[in-house]
Amino acid sequence: MYFRDVIGQEEVKKRLIRSAQTGVVPHAQLFTEQGGAGAFPLAIAYGRYLNCSHRTEEDACGVCPSCVKYDALAHPDLHFVFPIVSKKEKKKEVCDDYLPEWRDFLKGRPYFTIDHWLEHMDAGNSQAIIYSKESDEIIRKLSLKIYEAEYRILLVWLPEKLHQTCANKLLKIIEEPPANTIILMVSEAPDLILGTIQSRSQRIPIRPIATESIEKALLSQYKLEVKDAQDVAHRASGSYVQAMEAISLGDENAFFLEQFKGMMRNSWTRNVKGMKAMGDVLAGIGRERQKNFLVYCQYLIRENFMYRFQSPDITYMNMEEKSFSNNFAPYVNERNVFDLMDELAKAERHIAQNVNAKMVFFDLGLRITVLIKR
Ligand SMILES: [Zn+2]
Repeated sequence: MYFRDVIGQEEVKKRLIRSAQTGVVPHAQLFTEQGGAGAFPLAIAYGRYLNCSHRTEEDACGVCPSCVKYDALAHPDLHFVFPIVSKKEKKKEVCDDYLPEWRDFLKGRPYFTIDHWLEHMDAGNSQAIIYSKESDEIIRKLSLKIYEAEYRILLVWLPEKLHQTCANKLLKIIEEPPANTIILMVSEAPDLILGTIQSRSQRIPIRPIATESIEKALLSQYKLEVKDAQDVAHRASGSYVQAMEAISLGDENAFFLEQFKGMMRNSWTRNVKGMKAMGDVLAGIGRERQKNFLVYCQYLIRENFMYRFQSPDITYMNMEEKSFSNNFAPYVNERNVFDLMDELAKAERHIAQNVNAKMVFFDLGLRITVLIKR
């Protein structure tokens, strides 16, 4: 990640570049944002720029030994601390155990949320935190001699997830920093960070991205009409993550949307064989996902019902869902909307009560057959 990969944020880029050029580099810096504004890519680009031996006025060179190692996120003087889920059976208890996954995750992905990372880690329903065990790791790494860099960088993503013990250790380090060590923290909830860490760090507020910058980035990264790019950028509230989600669905929702389409198609054409087959597929995805799917179906029915009454830009649907709704919305009307919602909620309840999933989904298909023709 380079400064050029960061969307908009020209003022902050200038500020960070100036800091590197003048050598006034606070040893603890706290980047804060509401999510999706680019604080993480900015922090990495800054660390890279600080250590680049041939930097230009705008960015790092991309060819010096330091830049090459930063490209692979494998510089010996670049350390990451980030929330993880502990997997005792796989001996994954500190961040370094996740390094291969973490590097893989960051490759070509400057904008992300904790949910994306949880999914990448296969976290299941676990919460990710930075465990107390990590404090020994941090102390160990920072007590070593710096290998080769001008500035050793410790990048802490989401310090609000630090275990108390770890937060206290970090505070000690911030109070007595080892030479040439820069701690960059990227937070989405700075109020949850230890007050003493906050007060001893230089705060770098990252504002939501300007709408025009998002629009420009969308046009260069996706095949979009100018009008659609404007529309998406306008509704993204300054978050590039939100903008991307408005364009393409995540894997899970894309799967759910396909299943929903199949279910409606089967019911409309009275395809009993198809309903059975679908019951088999959905029976195999596990209770949690079955419930999520049924919640998603209720959301789609509700949105499709409202689709006709309101201007399309105030629905919450993303572009793929909307293009489906252009055809589907007329089938959801005053005569069936409440019964459809009831049936979906009932199926959700039955799944929660461990009723046989094949039966639940087959039965649901039959009931929708009756309702959808009203
Ligand atoms: Zn360089």
